[in-house]
Amino acid sequence: MRIISDRCPWCGKKIDGSKPSNLDKPNGYAIGRGVNWCRSCGNWYGIKPTAAMFLILVLLFIGCILLKAAPMAGIVILAVCIIIPLLMWRKLPKEKYPTGDRTSAPDLPSCKVSIDWDKKYFMLNYRIWSGYIFPISFVDGSANNVWCVKIDVSKRKQNQMDALMCFLSEEAPREELFKTGNKFVVFYNNDIIGRGIITAEKI
Ligand SMILES: [Zn+2]
Repeated sequence: MRIISDRCPWCGKKIDGSKPSNLDKPNGYAIGRGVNWCRSCGNWYGIKPTAAMFLILVLLFIGCILLKAAPMAGIVILAVCIIIPLLMWRKLPKEKYPTGDRTSAPDLPSCKVSIDWDKKYFMLNYRIWSGYIFPISFVDGSANNVWCVKIDVSKRKQNQMDALMCFLSEEAPREELFKTGNKFVVFYNNDIIGRGIITAEKI
């Protein structure tokens, strides 16, 4: 199963990535470089810059320099710099863009969680990046509705991850659900891919 970042950072609904028409284009946004709008909530999102992107820029620079001194090595590095972003493009997390009178709102308060990812998915723990959004459902307690959360990775070990987790929706009953010991399951395309527990309510 390929895990990609395909959920809106505002509402958590799936995004299809199709381009809006020019009529919809708001001032100041260059559509086509990862900037798009969510068909469900109408808010804008873009690709979040990651350390990997800066690393690729550095490699591009090195590749260009090497082209003269060692052409083969330069070509290999440049090819890697082109192929890797093409493969990774849909994996990059999305971030909120200011929309109309809505600013790029800060995230809601987080709790600390520990998640065990399903071992049947190869190296799943290392394929999930900070900023990914997943639907979760609490398996204990009164609420077993599905809510979308954003995960920020703190530590990984084998199949287990320590992370910070926050709801996307202000309507989520955070006080009720973010309680130490509460357990939840994590979904991806209707499969349960992980099981988590809240280890600290407040950070
Ligand atoms: Zn949305």
